[in-house]
Amino acid sequence: MLRRAEIELKSPGEVDAMREAGRVVARCLDAVRAAAVPGTSLKELDDVAHAVMQDHGAVPAFLDYHPHFAPSPFPGVICASVNDAVVHAIPGPYRLADGDLLSIDCGAFLDGWCGDAAFSAVVGDAPYPADLDLIATTERALHAGIAAAVPGGKLGDIGAAISAVAREPGYGMLADHGGHGIGRAMHMAPHVPNEGRAGRGLRLRPGLVIAIEPMLHAGGGDDYVHDDDGWTLRTADGSRAAHAEHTIAITDDGPRVLTLA
Ligand code: MG
Ligand code: MG
Repeated sequence: MLRRAEIELKSPGEVDAMREAGRVVARCLDAVRAAAVPGTSLKELDDVAHAVMQDHGAVPAFLDYHPHFAPSPFPGVICASVNDAVVHAIPGPYRLADGDLLSIDCGAFLDGWCGDAAFSAVVGDAPYPADLDLIATTERALHAGIAAAVPGGKLGDIGAAISAVAREPGYGMLADHGGHGIGRAMHMAPHVPNEGRAGRGLRLRPGLVIAIEPMLHAGGGDDYVHDDDGWTLRTADGSRAAHAEHTIAITDDGPRVLTLA
């Protein structure tokens, strides 16, 4: 169970500082989106994001991150997950091809505050219209989750809103993966599940800052597999996946998205 003592609330000034960190992340993602054309390698996209961070005096949040489940520190600035890779893929030498479904996740620290956001897009021409539907639904699920992040609501409202959008067309979501509290660390309490029951769980209060991040895939199941690198998470059925994420603050005026340019 979640204990309130574990949940950190930020002051309005701290939320403003997190907005600046989020802005850098958004600019990184914009630059990566523009560079993600056929022939570009995932490592080159990583370099693009790193350069934007350095321009802003920001520090990569993912680079050398070493959580308990991983066999080695993460070697990239972004996660670059292609097609059936859902999240956490290492940006290596793979070169993008027309029609790849690319998911980019990026985190950065600015003045000690962390921002975390992700998007998915189809590279070049799109031979698979189903991918565009998957991406659009993932973004709708994200925004439904954000809309539920209001003072007086419950944490379960967010997951319920996300899963209602995701499950209606029959998409799957990874079990055990979801969003998180965020602040001076990237991953903080509470865990923010992508499924939930409305009206249940932690009460949402102004000053709570969380990353909301639905990960949907076309296959409909909840299973996934790890690559041998210990990081990359793929759908067990080989179906394509999309990921969308924003860092948001719950304020007296409703949800405030921090990871916008
Ligand atoms: Mg992320
Ligand atoms: Mg996150």
